[in-house]
Amino acid sequence: MTGLDLLESNKRNLLIGGTWRGARSGERIEVIDPADGSVLTDVADASTDEAVEALDAAVAAQADWARTPPRERGEILRRAFDLLTERADDVAHLMSLEMGKPVAEAKGEVGYGSEFFRWYSEEAVRIHGRWMQAPAGGSRLLTVRKPVGPCLFITPWNFPLAMGTRKIGPAIAAGCTMVVKPASQTPLTMLALAAILEEAGLPGGVLNVVTTSSTGELSSTLQADDRLRKVSFTGSTAVGRTIVAQSADRLQRLSMELGGNAPFLVFEDADLDAAVDGAMVAKMRNMGEACTSANRFLVHSDVAAEFAEKLGRRMGALTLGRGQDDGVDVGPLIDEKALAGVSRLVADAVHDGATVVTGGSAPDGPGFFYSPTVLVDVPPGSAINTEEIFGPVAPITTFDTEAEAIERANDTEYGLASYAYTRDLARTIRLAESLDFGMVGVNTGLVSNPAAPFGGMKQSGFGREGGFEGIEEYLETTYVALPAD
Ligand code: NAP
Repeated sequence: MTGLDLLESNKRNLLIGGTWRGARSGERIEVIDPADGSVLTDVADASTDEAVEALDAAVAAQADWARTPPRERGEILRRAFDLLTERADDVAHLMSLEMGKPVAEAKGEVGYGSEFFRWYSEEAVRIHGRWMQAPAGGSRLLTVRKPVGPCLFITPWNFPLAMGTRKIGPAIAAGCTMVVKPASQTPLTMLALAAILEEAGLPGGVLNVVTTSSTGELSSTLQADDRLRKVSFTGSTAVGRTIVAQSADRLQRLSMELGGNAPFLVFEDADLDAAVDGAMVAKMRNMGEACTSANRFLVHSDVAAEFAEKLGRRMGALTLGRGQDDGVDVGPLIDEKALAGVSRLVADAVHDGATVVTGGSAPDGPGFFYSPTVLVDVPPGSAINTEEIFGPVAPITTFDTEAEAIERANDTEYGLASYAYTRDLARTIRLAESLDFGMVGVNTGLVSNPAAPFGGMKQSGFGREGGFEGIEEYLETTYVALPAD
């Protein structure tokens, strides 16, 4: 089985209350292959009424699910982890078809994404409150942890599996039910994941999946419903702001995983080859279409020329192509708009005075491809340094002092990931404490780890996914006062 065969055609539909079905209107949303712009298949286009039905199902399932023993909840997650692991090749192929990334990379995402299920299968049985004596004696203070209740999850197209599992895993472990709205461009992986969870024994109604082209209407309608207790969103800061505003009337709990503008600092004492290796990961993971993607390369002026030359050589040697073909390193961008955005940022940077070391254009032919690109002499104020590039472009600027590097790194409205290469331990400590980012990768280009708290500050959002912190997003605390006498 490969790719589309994994997802039976009756499951390219809505999952509501344990039943797979098409939209009543019969409307469908086309899923496009970004490697050539052709139509791969289609999925149901739900109305807002059908989204409300999905919430009805989540609400109906909530009480029983919260009472289901934690061990049972954990074991369902563990079985889903095993199934994902067994079917990693097929799931990766399906993901590659709809999203464009090379199959090997998609397989990496299946490994990363499924680990959230394994981690939270282990955490489900470690939810506990506390019992303490009041400081003045007398009464006892008891805390009870409870699931938040029905949740809405909205996920982006760039990591179609992992952006779901890091919400679904802790929610299942905590005893929450949910409505999931995957990105319209990559719904197939999420539907395949839902089918796997069903096979793993997840009761109907706990996880409902709604695909729709009326996304804004879905979120405003569900957020206006008192029964919805939490929204976890991963996507752009612009949409995140809308969801935060919509939460105000009902004071819904929120987790916001939004955009980034990661600095990648290379100091004069860095192991330059290791820095180039790390840059390739931090920049080229997911073709640069990652919130954690290195966006601004800040390199000490003593080593900048050598770093640019080495990075240019590595980037220039990458092979572009359809993600399902052998030997491909870099797939297409997600769509025409993404390609136009990356092309504009590079053209503006060159207009502002940047020099192209390698790449700098889109190759001829079908699909939304952009050549891996390295730019030097990029003026700090150029749009490519302030906007999220979301593509395979590495703009390099130089600095002379550590203080300047830190100031420029922090000079962004975002605060998600950052990276630094240095062999100086004292500097590492100063950087960890002064970089205003939720994550700092020191001498590594990869910060994501299911056991670590992933998340941002400033306009990159709030809340954490993964680690011990991730389950807290799905738990409420009730404090019980007990007189001891
Ligand atoms: P996006 O346009 O914000 O879309 C993300 C999701 O939001 C999609 O499911 C989309 O649905 C939905 N959406 C669109 N308009 C909405 C509205 N008015 N109300 C509610 N939902 C709405 O972002 P994107 O372009 O897919 O993803 C890229 C962005 O995500 C980047 O900024 C990236 O940095 C960020 N991201 C952040 C993280 C993190 O963990 N911090 C991880 C990955 C990506 P439709 O597909 O139906 O439009």
